[in-house]
Amino acid sequence: MNIETYFKLSYGLYIVSSHYDGKFNGHINNTVFQVTAEPAKLAVCSNKNNLTTDYILKSKCLTISIIQEEVDLEYIGHFGFKSGRDFNKFEKINYKLSDLGCPVVLDKTIGYFDCELESTFDLGTHILFIVSIKDAQLFDNEKSPLTYSYYRNVIKGVSPKNAPTYIDKDKLSKLEEKPKSKHPQYVCNVCGYVYNPEEGDEENGIPPGTPFEDLPEDWVCPVCGVDKDNFSIL
Ligand code: FE
Repeated sequence: MNIETYFKLSYGLYIVSSHYDGKFNGHINNTVFQVTAEPAKLAVCSNKNNLTTDYILKSKCLTISIIQEEVDLEYIGHFGFKSGRDFNKFEKINYKLSDLGCPVVLDKTIGYFDCELESTFDLGTHILFIVSIKDAQLFDNEKSPLTYSYYRNVIKGVSPKNAPTYIDKDKLSKLEEKPKSKHPQYVCNVCGYVYNPEEGDEENGIPPGTPFEDLPEDWVCPVCGVDKDNFSIL
């Protein structure tokens, strides 16, 4: 078995959102694909532990906001590595409501689908939703949609534990060649983000060459926001 084969499957990255009882939630999803044209239907796979999954089952609708390529890890972390059970993900986000009442993310997106739930398939850890498209709108026809391969190779992102494409970090670390460095790399135990001292965290003011031990005490994981105590040596 060659785990790297998994990385040759192509996916896009989306925010799947729904509503229930006046509340909104959404999460990053990379298993959204069109399955029929007439009538137009999509398949969406979602972990049973996700709050959005509960909302979709209750409200019978969802929106798929298409993320643009130019996003940072913080944006992905907000929707992908934090639970809506802990805070309102839409509080500081620009959004509008679809005709079916689900939130559509307007920040860093290029369009969306508004969908009605048709059927579900129990996949054990996940549920596969078959949804019919009730509306589709584009905000920006110039920008490219974010793909999983761009996210992984350019933005250097990883899959959260609830994603269908999650791969255990022990398996990953065996695969990925570590650059020779006198300072070790550290991995976030929550989201799998790897702090590489040679690269630093320039978006958050940490220059290349900063060892993990020298990071300021208030430094947090740029993806999921947990503090240094949640990191272990790789
Ligand atoms: Fe993290």
